[in-house]
Amino acid sequence: MNRIADYLIVGGGIVGLTVAWELRNRFPAARILVLEKEAALGKHASGRNSGVLHSGIYYDSHTLKAKVCAEGARRMKAFATQYEIPCHHSGKVIVATAPEDLPVLTRLLHNAQANGIQAELRDVQGIQQLEPHAGVYQQGIYCPETAVIDSKAVISRLQALLTAANVEILFHAPVDSVDLPTSTVMTPVGTVGYGYLFNCAGAFADQVARHFGLGSDYLLLPFKGIYHTLRPQRSALLRANIYPVPNIKQPFLGVHLTRVADGTVYAGPTAIPALGRENYGILRGARWGESLQVGLAIAGMYAANQQNFRRLVHTELGKYQKKHFVAAVRKLMPALTADDLLPSSKVGIRPQLIHRREKRLEMDYVIEKTENSLHVLNAISPAFTSSLAFAPWLVEQALASSSPPPAPPGDNP
Ligand SMILES: Cc1cc2nc3c(=O)[nH]c(=O)nc-3n(C[C@H](O)[C@H](O)[C@H](O)COP(=O)(O)OP(=O)(O)OC[C@H]3O[C@@H](n4cnc5c(N)ncnc54)[C@H](O)[C@@H]3O)c2cc1C
Repeated sequence: MNRIADYLIVGGGIVGLTVAWELRNRFPAARILVLEKEAALGKHASGRNSGVLHSGIYYDSHTLKAKVCAEGARRMKAFATQYEIPCHHSGKVIVATAPEDLPVLTRLLHNAQANGIQAELRDVQGIQQLEPHAGVYQQGIYCPETAVIDSKAVISRLQALLTAANVEILFHAPVDSVDLPTSTVMTPVGTVGYGYLFNCAGAFADQVARHFGLGSDYLLLPFKGIYHTLRPQRSALLRANIYPVPNIKQPFLGVHLTRVADGTVYAGPTAIPALGRENYGILRGARWGESLQVGLAIAGMYAANQQNFRRLVHTELGKYQKKHFVAAVRKLMPALTADDLLPSSKVGIRPQLIHRREKRLEMDYVIEKTENSLHVLNAISPAFTSSLAFAPWLVEQALASSSPPPAPPGDNP
């Protein structure tokens, strides 16, 4: 069946859904359509994450992440209150576990101050007042604004709100090709003509962008996030969240301990280079051609060794072995043993954008545009946290640069 949309959104993850929601609120009569390749929402990153609403302490004040993370968290908490979505305002601690972590704590405090985020430097005793079993080398930071939300419940609620507001979500509808002169997208379930297109395709955003002649500098590489759960008898050892001090040259925050909305305690995720964008099992979801491309890109990154990439690969691949995973967790909570960590079916893939020529991991969100399309190429963490502030920013970018402006025909016939 052929359709027409004033605004077409490719991808029904948190970014696509919040963009659709923002558009609906601005343009009540516009025809808005979301294309989702799966049979249901939440099958990828947005339904498989840690659910932590980050405070924004990790990001330099000049970054786009800093601009939208803290505000996104505030709006997501208000959304949770309005729609009765489980959300625990539990706070978190970031603990130093070695001398080299201490200067990074100072840097994080500086970010917090620049970004207007609450953060308290505490000594070992001060951290252990909050998390009695935390392993701490001298100091840590308490972030009282961090919360943990049920991300699947957010996706379900947005789906219900959008459907009630006459936004169509078309399932089994991957973008196969695009006819640029007629602004038409081809999918297995029909064609869609669009006025303006938002590419929010997560792990496949670079491939969708290539239909528009964009994204040629970039490739999305998949990194697998494996979790374990804490044996229920031991879960009381954690009050809320314990994070390590991250390597600030890399976009991953490190294995952490998180108590989620239903009380389960997760340890993870890893950031292991994966064989494919949907390689959720050991081999499941890996495709030969894609694995080859990923393997070659990783080899190139490994050789260039920007941002200490080799160390990342070695450390993360090691975490496939339980003893290394346990060692990472025990730095945060020395009382835990291998027996306390149970395997979990929860696994997510983080699509991480690399700059192909410069062989580096992109640290911030990356956007590219044409006259009537906008492409979100690096919706990495904390894109879930940021989404309710990020989506309005994306819509503003679209309205500011399109020519002619995408005043929706539905609102201005
Ligand atoms: C293990 C893990 C832990 C994380 N923890 C946190 C956290 O604690 N806090 C936080 O803020 N963030 C976290 N993140 C990051 C966060 O989950 C992501 O940044 C966010 O979900 C990205 O949303 P998205 O909409 O861009 O992508 P997705 O959720 O992947 O959605 C993209 C959608 O597009 C669809 N799609 C793909 N290609 C096509 C196509 N060609 N045509 C049509 N549809 C298509 C996909 O099926 C998918 O539904 C984590 C991520 C992972 C993997």
